[in-house]
This record gives sequence, C-alpha cells and structure tokens, in this order.
Amino acid sequence: MDDLKQLIREVPGFPKPGILFYDITTLLKNGPGFRRVIDQFHARYRDAGVDVVVGIEARGFIFAPTLAYALGTGFVPVRKPKKLPAACERIEYALEYGTDALEMHTDAIAPGQRALILDDVLATGGTAAAVARLVEKTGGVVAGLGFVIELDFLRGRDKLAGRDVYSLLHY
Ligand code: AMP
Repeated sequence: MDDLKQLIREVPGFPKPGILFYDITTLLKNGPGFRRVIDQFHARYRDAGVDVVVGIEARGFIFAPTLAYALGTGFVPVRKPKKLPAACERIEYALEYGTDALEMHTDAIAPGQRALILDDVLATGGTAAAVARLVEKTGGVVAGLGFVIELDFLRGRDKLAGRDVYSLLHY
C-alpha cells in the first residue's frame, strides 16, 4: 500500500503557511491507484455488515459513493449547513478558532442501521468524531471509520477511542 504515497502530492503552505497539504487529486487521476484504494476498502469492509456508507462534503463524496457501489450499499451525504432540503440532524464541533457544523437528513439512516464513515484524511479527528455522533443521533450504529490518509502526529485517533478506525496510509 505504501507505494501509493508516490501518487499523493504534498503541497507545503496550502491553504495557509505551516500546513503540509496531502493532495489526493493526483491519486484520483491514476486509474490503477484509485482502483487499489477502493479494492482495499472493499476487502476490509465487505464482511463488516455495512448498510450504508457515509461521506463528508466535499472530498468524502469521492470515495464514499464509490465504495458504496462496490459493496452494494447505499450512500448518505453529510453536508455543510443549509444545503440539504429536508429535515436534518445537526452537529456542531470545535475548530482551532470557533465552531463549525454539519448536517445529515434525519431519515437518512434508519435506527439500528450500520454506517461506515469514509473520508480522505484523518487529521485532528474533529470532523470524523462529529460525524460519528451525528450518525448516532439518528439511531444509526457506527460500523467503522475509514480514511485514505491518517496524520498520526495529530492523534485524531484519540478522538475516536473505542471505534473501529482504519487508514490505508500513515504519515
Ligand atoms: P480534521 O477534522 O482535523 O480531522 O480534518 C478535517 C478535514 O480536513 C479532513 O477530512 C481533510 O479533508 C482536511 N484536512 C485536514 N488536514 C489536511 C491536510 N494536511 N491535507 C489535506 N487535507 C487535510
């Protein structure tokens, strides 16, 4: 798997000084590379009893529906506030400065359904932890959280203690 790192572009100073940004567009445009990522997630989760794959706007909308198709499950979008048209559950979470919020349709996950949360990067874990709570607010069960990239030094995993966390690549 680690050779996939060659397909990930590292952009220093984006979106602001001091951040090293892991750009997955260079992986996505590589057919065999993109397929390996989805195949690896598929192998990990095909027997995990997943009912729906949950993706977080915006880059989660690339991997989550692709894996949902491979697993034969549904896909559920989690979006920035005021984008979804029907009744929503909302979760607020702390950022470095201030707070942010995410929403999911109240009826997107039926009580007891098993949801796999998928995103591109696990950084501080704030976003993923908030989405896990959002799933649980609707009565869903978090089957696991999957990431293409995990930034180990930010210890995002600590915010997801007790949950099944799986990342393809570690930095
Ligand atoms: P966090 O809530 O800190 O775990 O990060 C939230 C989101 O920010 C992740 O899902 C990524 O999409 C994005 N992100 C954070 N840090 C980086 C980074 N260094 N490179 C690329 N994306 C990042």
